[in-house]
Amino acid sequence: MDLKQQVHAKVWGYQEDMIRDIFELVAVDSVKTEAKEGKPFGDGPAEALVKAEAVAKRLGFQTTNLDNYVVYTHSGEGKERIGVLGHVDIVPLGEGWTKNPLGGDRDEKFIYGRGVSDNKGPCVMSLYALKIIQELGIPLTKEVRIIMGANEESGMQCVKYYREKEGGFDYAFSPDAAFPVTFGEKGSYRANFSGSKLGKGSVQLLSAKGGNAPNVVCPACDVVLLAGSESNKIQAAFEAYLAAHQLHGKVTVSGNELHLRLEGIAAHASRPELGVNSISHMMAFLGTVLEDVPFVNGYNRCVGMAYNGENCGVDVSDEYGRLTFNVGMISTENDTITSTIDIRFPVTIQDFTPHAETIVQGFAADGLEIKGARIGKPLFVAPDSPLVKILSEVYVDITGDTVNQPATMGGGTYAKNFDNCVAFGAEFVGDENNIHNIDERIEIEKMLKATEIIVHALIRLNSH
Ligand SMILES: [Zn+2]
Repeated sequence: MDLKQQVHAKVWGYQEDMIRDIFELVAVDSVKTEAKEGKPFGDGPAEALVKAEAVAKRLGFQTTNLDNYVVYTHSGEGKERIGVLGHVDIVPLGEGWTKNPLGGDRDEKFIYGRGVSDNKGPCVMSLYALKIIQELGIPLTKEVRIIMGANEESGMQCVKYYREKEGGFDYAFSPDAAFPVTFGEKGSYRANFSGSKLGKGSVQLLSAKGGNAPNVVCPACDVVLLAGSESNKIQAAFEAYLAAHQLHGKVTVSGNELHLRLEGIAAHASRPELGVNSISHMMAFLGTVLEDVPFVNGYNRCVGMAYNGENCGVDVSDEYGRLTFNVGMISTENDTITSTIDIRFPVTIQDFTPHAETIVQGFAADGLEIKGARIGKPLFVAPDSPLVKILSEVYVDITGDTVNQPATMGGGTYAKNFDNCVAFGAEFVGDENNIHNIDERIEIEKMLKATEIIVHALIRLNSH
């Protein structure tokens, strides 16, 4: 048997062991909760780390639990260090599952549960990949670590802590996105903007509310107006607006108040064009019935219906993609309305500060104040770097897929926190694993195929 056949046989032989270990991790509800003494992300993430460490130990690895931020394994020796980074925390289970969200359910094709795909499954797959290399007697000439973090979904403090204590890598990848290689991740700009809700006309805007997260296209927006004698007119205009834009929504009258609800479609902030922003539509409508409300006018001028920052002077692109602009939430406090901005900017823009300044000035000119702006640098590893080339070659070699090419994305993974690190796997193009949704799953055969790829990636990085 050649190496490829040996790896294939080993990986396929471990199918049931891998599923058992994945379910063991999935059984822990590891959503971040309040920090406790010695548990920076609360009980669940800490318990998931304990389970992950137990699985790693059972497979024969020496391990370190770094203060309940991450668990990592120790293998190999050498001047250079290779890292594989996954995470064992999860997003909330959510409601409506037809399978047990804490694992155990499977059918002929899939296993189910929160984290089987994102990202407990790939953690276990990486551990088995390294175990298989050792079983095959392939000497490690570099140090190899599998790092499993406990805070990927809400801030990535875990790997920031790890990096401070343990430093970086010469080569690293995170199987927390999709094959083939993702060599660039857009930079991020997050901020709030606010303006007055007090206008000049007889119809008053009492409140606006919508959205649960800045990084999701706002799916529904509720507004309360004090409309008095204009109520009927506004109701008719709103219904006409909904019909004209093929939107769902409703109007209810309660006393002098008119309650408007407008429904859009949620989507990830990195792909806002896949959704329909309910706030943007609500503001566009309100602009036709309210007189001189600073927030509404400012919104329509600076944001409008654009997905790429066209209205505030930051519609920039590079050869890998275009800036995206999303408003995820809206809320009211006293006489002020506040919304969130989530921008993902192109991977080759190293300094976003001038664009951030353009936003502040443009919004200010239209009566809106930007607050709490934070810039996150993009990730860009050159497509012709050894890391990207080796991982791409392995992917093509194992899958035969030359159609899907290395790419960049708007989302962010652990890779952003390290030099010489990219996202690599563990989903395949076209997979529908319901990540962050109900009935999260992973196809058993794809799990095995991805594990094979990880084995060969580690072998080639080790011998590079
Ligand atoms: Zn993830």
